[in-house]
Amino acid sequence: MDTILLNPVIDPSAIDRAAGLLRAGEVVGMPTETVYGLGANALDPAAVAKIFDAKGRPQDNPLIVHIADAEALERICDDVPEPAKRLAAAFWPGPLTMVLPRVREIPASVTAGLPTVGVRLPAHPVARELIRRAGVPIAAPSANLSGRPSTTTAAHVLADMDGRIAAVLEGGPCEVGVESTIVSFAGETPRLLRPGGVSLEQLREILGKVDIDRALREQIGDDARVSAPGMKYRHYAPKANVTVVCGTPEDTAAYISKHLTNETGVLCFTEFAYLFEMHEMRTMGAADDPLTQARRIFDALRAFDETDVQEIYTQCPSDEGIGLAVANRLKKAAGFKVVNVV
Ligand code: AMP
Ligand code: MG
Repeated sequence: MDTILLNPVIDPSAIDRAAGLLRAGEVVGMPTETVYGLGANALDPAAVAKIFDAKGRPQDNPLIVHIADAEALERICDDVPEPAKRLAAAFWPGPLTMVLPRVREIPASVTAGLPTVGVRLPAHPVARELIRRAGVPIAAPSANLSGRPSTTTAAHVLADMDGRIAAVLEGGPCEVGVESTIVSFAGETPRLLRPGGVSLEQLREILGKVDIDRALREQIGDDARVSAPGMKYRHYAPKANVTVVCGTPEDTAAYISKHLTNETGVLCFTEFAYLFEMHEMRTMGAADDPLTQARRIFDALRAFDETDVQEIYTQCPSDEGIGLAVANRLKKAAGFKVVNVV
């Protein structure tokens, strides 16, 4: 299959053409403010199956359903609890996914057979216009091959998906750069399943108590019963092995300098770049600039695949704000191989 690149900046019919492909049951790479998604009609099981094929995604990893306006939530979810409504009012459109009881019309392949569905109203204007014109809810996981770092530019999507999907819709580099925050309302207390563009601090301002899923702290075993089945898989991984080094920026930079070999790549805060100039090195932004770190993290991880490095050492951002999400992606890329420097 030839994958066409549709660019709304130079082709005024680009969004309509992408919407037509979605209605026809095809898969389209689409921009969102978090990462690029692989969209398909969430109500069409054959279209949804094409997403799993294109990504090589395990069938037990559910998809997030994207809607164009908050009213569409009631058509996808049963019984939206009051706290979920408050959260939507505070953060939609934006990088927040809520896991809620689903209506019967959502195919089992979208939810991996769960009684719940993950729903998000994205903020990216091209994404919202695309969903609106498609006229159906759009199931969309991140637009990377399963296990690889997520895609934050149309070029990343083409690198993984050229020949596997009908089209990619260009929408510029993603403004947030890491995936949405996922909050589950399946239990008594709201539970954070994945940190993302909306911070834990922001969630607690609206919800009060928020539990934190243990998948955020450790690698989940194959046999584990988890609230989100996809959590057990290795994610975001470049080809080289990753080690995350946690501690103060000064201490972690010193630790990494001491442990380098010729085959080691380094992902560091900008202010420490001078220490690693003889190595394959990428910067993720300043230590106190988590928004830039989020925007750069996946591009930096992908860039190491163009090199010969066998291992990558990375400094770990602080857990505050969106830093929690960046640190989580790095730890997952490392399969939770973490060194704490004290
Ligand atoms: P991705 O779109 O690739 O970023 O992955 C979506 C993630 O959303 C999955 O791996 C799950 O962890 C989570 N998710 C989606 N739907 C549900 C659901 N119904 N229950 C729990 N987690 C979900
Ligand atoms: Mg993903």
